[in-house]
Amino acid sequence: ILLQDHVKDLNVVVVSVAGAFRKGKSFLLDFMLRYMRNSDKDSWMGDNDDPLTGFTWRGGCERETTGIQVWSEVFVVDKPDGSKVAVLLVDTQGAFDSQSTIKDSATVFALSTMTSSIQVILKHQNVWLFTEYGRLALEEVSKKPFQSLMFLIRDWCFPYEYCYGLKGGNEFLDKRLQVKHNQHEELQNVRNHIQHCFSNINCFLLPHPGLKVATNPKFDGRLRDINEDFKTELARLVPLLLAPNQLVEKEIGGNKVTCRDLLEYFKSYIKIYQGEELPHPKTMLQATAEANNLTAVAGAKAMYSKKMEQICGGDKPYIAPADLKRCHEEIRNCSVSYFRSVKKMGGKEFCQHYQNQLESELEEAYTNFSKQNDGKNIFYAARTPATLFVVMFT
Ligand code: GDP
Ligand code: MG
Repeated sequence: ILLQDHVKDLNVVVVSVAGAFRKGKSFLLDFMLRYMRNSDKDSWMGDNDDPLTGFTWRGGCERETTGIQVWSEVFVVDKPDGSKVAVLLVDTQGAFDSQSTIKDSATVFALSTMTSSIQVILKHQNVWLFTEYGRLALEEVSKKPFQSLMFLIRDWCFPYEYCYGLKGGNEFLDKRLQVKHNQHEELQNVRNHIQHCFSNINCFLLPHPGLKVATNPKFDGRLRDINEDFKTELARLVPLLLAPNQLVEKEIGGNKVTCRDLLEYFKSYIKIYQGEELPHPKTMLQATAEANNLTAVAGAKAMYSKKMEQICGGDKPYIAPADLKRCHEEIRNCSVSYFRSVKKMGGKEFCQHYQNQLESELEEAYTNFSKQNDGKNIFYAARTPATLFVVMFT
């Protein structure tokens, strides 16, 4: 998905919808798909009798989605500043319902938070902050590590206290996030941590969608069966998250992340979380720093290979070894200084380790380029009698 030619080098916007099961995540994501697919942004919601398709969603109490699901279609969007970005929609489900799977939930949740730029948490009004969020704190970093967080509270039933939508939601959230001195210390910590983790925190209050949506097993998602005020708020909510000027590009350690980079990040996060332990703030920071360096190594190496290919790739003629060596040295230096110029996390010593790794990978690549180049030299090949024979008679 991430290495498709038309998206791999674009900066990525990762929109993740997370929460417990049967909160309507897949249902919401399917409306997001409609928005992304419909170029007419005034009538994106579609016709009254179109069934809702995309991520599978359904009633009942059996779980439909587990873990993290990425929608296979990556949407390319032109931002108002002229840049193109790739938008990825992600469905994330942790099993907050059962104790035995708390570890899985925390892992899934940490992963989706670390890899997304817009995290939407669907929740019910009375189940408030996840304590696991406290674990996401990265006290070691001064800059806020994550970007946009939206609490989406469904079935809001006190519109006379806080009105539906963003305004009421943010007022409600401010009240909830206020740290009061008489509060339990742990709760205070969780609140502080959330505010230190995300650059942007919002809350949106959604009305109840109506009984057909909530309880009718034959409901297929068509708009006709959904309450008007729900549709009105939905029509406001989705563009808040997905309109071209609202899209937040994923950044890690101050660098924008491309689709190709994101794949590297996934790989290193997964390696780190294969251990037995619950993700801990320290390991999350380390994972991010490691992934960050690995991505810089991959970028620097790709740059080296591309330039070397232009000089001595398979379709290029033989070049004198001394010249090749000179090119290699020059390009290697460019590649290493590129690596050094990328903003990285983890401190000097940590990054030096990755620079060493890069340098040895470049030497190895050079050895291969040299061999390939030597193979093109008819005179070099002729030094071995067997090939001489072939050369003379063909
Ligand atoms: P997921 O497990 O979080 O992905 O939930 P689904 O999207 O599969 O939806 C589960 C059920 O909740 C379906 O029957 C939906 O019709 C219903 N549903 C979707 N959104 C809402 C909502 O905002 N409120 C209520 N009460 N039900 C909803
Ligand atoms: Mg689902």
